Amino acid sequence: MTNIKVRFAPSPTGFMHIGNTRTAVFNWLLAKKLGGNFMLRIDDTDVARSKPEYEEAIRDILNWLGLKWSEEARQSARMERYNEVVAKLKAEGRVYACYETAEELEVMRKKLMTKGLPPIYDRSALKLTPEQISAYEKEGRKPHYRFKLVPGVIEWDDMVRGHCRYDASNLADPVIIREDGSYLYHLPSVIDDSDFGITHIIRGEDHVTNTAAQIQMFEALGTPVPTFAHLPLLTGKEGKLSKRLGSLGVRELRAEGIEAMAISSFLAKLGTSESIEPFYDLDSLSASLDLHKLGRSQPKFDESELKIFNTKYVRNLPYEKVKDRIKSDEKFWNAVRGNLNIVSDIEEWEKICHQNLVPIIEDKTLTDIAADLLPEEPWNDETFNLWMNDVKSKSGKKGKELFHPIRKALTAQENGPELKTLLPLIGREKALKRLKGTEA
Ligand code: GLU
Repeated sequence: MTNIKVRFAPSPTGFMHIGNTRTAVFNWLLAKKLGGNFMLRIDDTDVARSKPEYEEAIRDILNWLGLKWSEEARQSARMERYNEVVAKLKAEGRVYACYETAEELEVMRKKLMTKGLPPIYDRSALKLTPEQISAYEKEGRKPHYRFKLVPGVIEWDDMVRGHCRYDASNLADPVIIREDGSYLYHLPSVIDDSDFGITHIIRGEDHVTNTAAQIQMFEALGTPVPTFAHLPLLTGKEGKLSKRLGSLGVRELRAEGIEAMAISSFLAKLGTSESIEPFYDLDSLSASLDLHKLGRSQPKFDESELKIFNTKYVRNLPYEKVKDRIKSDEKFWNAVRGNLNIVSDIEEWEKICHQNLVPIIEDKTLTDIAADLLPEEPWNDETFNLWMNDVKSKSGKKGKELFHPIRKALTAQENGPELKTLLPLIGREKALKRLKGTEA
């Protein structure tokens, strides 16, 4: 069996957003599931827009998500290799020079459109005589280069879209090198995928037509064509592909306390026939991966749903998975996690239990009785109920009228974890002071 290898190929021209994070997650999960490797490829051929700080931010987010990579490459370091392949493809007639200006191409495009024809480049560059070419060059025109598609049907079995079929004659020869000599994404990507032995490419469905052309590039290089999976693009709440969504930064979500595994769990199941449930590690999430369960329609991504899901995630988060990030012990975590929205909310409860606060005395008669009847330590799980039974008999209060003033005196909060579990965390000394209204 071939060695499975996938890659995540971000362009360092911006921060990680929810869209490319989803692509990274799917690639990583598939590699894991198939026992393969995950490679990071930095697509920095766009020199003007690529920035080291974006690259650093991408690595930071991938690490935070736990999407570790075993190999990496950088396109800007591979220009010689691309030039070498292009020289070969030129010699074979698969790459050809074109001299049209952007304006001329636009005129050609409009002409075709008015005739009701698809705007496919007519390959007039192939008919240029040597004289015309040298005349252009004297004028100072610099060529751009296209990859020549060969006629025929281009087919692949997409892991998400099923069987895909394109007629090459309906596609324009893609431009692969700009006038200034810089590479567009298409060919370098194929050279890399081929050189690094990439077996599976998972990316957004906005790349489907690129795939058709790229399949011919793989064939021109004489290397096996990888397996493709094109993910339906996410849409915003409002239905259309939203600009805001594209820019919804994962850094911001992280800063707001959204958990890495909540993001991965959410994105891996969004748009599938499965319900979105919390997974607490990538391994189990990857074991559950089934690309066939992805629907073809574009799933809606709603940030507020992610936040609600994150709360569910946090409230069920096992202590083992959070212990390195919190001060408290397992008992404390289990007592309060059901009341947290984000993990750092635990600090509020740590303060409530361990620091001084200003108790709120709503019913002084009641809290005085409660203070008098507060049992001596040691306390156990039954202490609170036994105590409340005594307070109830002596005060005549029950239900909300009993518990609410006690809660406010003990915690200065309207709501919170069960008092039964909180009481031992607060301890007798503090509880007594608070019931008497004397703390802080
Ligand atoms: N750098 C390309 C992008 O971000 C990679 C596309 C691909 O996965 O081939 O769109």
